Amino acid sequence: MSTAKFVEVHLGDVVRLRKPHACGGTDWTVVRLGADIGLRCEKCEHRILLARSVFERRLKSFLSRAVAADPSLGVDSN
Ligand SMILES: [Zn+2]
Repeated sequence: MSTAKFVEVHLGDVVRLRKPHACGGTDWTVVRLGADIGLRCEKCEHRILLARSVFERRLKSFLSRAVAADPSLGVDSN
């Protein structure tokens, strides 16, 4: 069993990473989900891809959550 906790992340979430980008920005918008997490720097709009494990390690905090995905509301089939 892995002791790593699963981080739930959605498109449009804004996250802060522990290590600043080369431009000095620390805040990123999630633009792609999958085996790799796509992030766009809020400051310079540069895009990067991080493996999920790397992303979870660098993640410091969520600054804002994308609205749509609240699992407590159930899945709307439409
Ligand atoms: Zn940047």
